[in-house]
Amino acid sequence: MSNAWETAQSLAEQHANSGGIFIRLSNNGDKVVGAFCGEPHAREVHWTGEKYVECTGDGCKLCAPGKRPSLRVMLNFYVPAESEMKVIEGGTAWFKDVIKVRDKYGLDKWLFEIERHGDSGDPKTTYSILPEEKTDDELRADIAAAALHDLANIGNGEEEEKAPAKSRAGSINPRVAGELVAQLKALPRSDVDTFLAEFKVERVRDLQASDEAKARKYIASLTAPQDDSEIDPFA
Ligand SMILES: [Zn+2]
Repeated sequence: MSNAWETAQSLAEQHANSGGIFIRLSNNGDKVVGAFCGEPHAREVHWTGEKYVECTGDGCKLCAPGKRPSLRVMLNFYVPAESEMKVIEGGTAWFKDVIKVRDKYGLDKWLFEIERHGDSGDPKTTYSILPEEKTDDELRADIAAAALHDLANIGNGEEEEKAPAKSRAGSINPRVAGELVAQLKALPRSDVDTFLAEFKVERVRDLQASDEAKARKYIASLTAPQDDSEIDPFA
């Protein structure tokens, strides 16, 4: 029996979520599984029919009787399937549901599945948030190593489509940090501690961007002896 339908569906789900920092659930049934991280960032916006424009408050040209701004809330959202910190954004009803699952389950203890209910462009679209599974130590370590996006300065989902991931000033690119973490994980804990001490940081994501080349070299030097040990001297 062909599993073409399942393959196509899982590919469609990956495509719905891939690319850019912002999670996009564009079609009915699109879903993503991940962990909410950090603090929410709320802003008031107007929907122009094409995009969200930030309400400037006093003197806002888009504010009019019966046209009050609506709330959009952003949160960092770690997606294990992509090993990447993303940003998820939603409206008032969605955020109220986030608060509900936070109170009931705890955002740091669970992965949640967010699913879209409503076709593209349907103004009645809603999103469900369900607990998927509990996070384990390994996953919590991955999340801790992934840098949070600076939500106040990230722009918004409409603007950033192709923009590269922003990192905090001077800090190492989150993608690079993730790569280094993956390499360090293969090493004994003592080597990891040596590495962190060498660069005077507590977490990999605290490395300076300017130290990237040095850090890569250092990790390579730590992994080198392991490669040698795989060579059978009696071969
Ligand atoms: Zn306004």
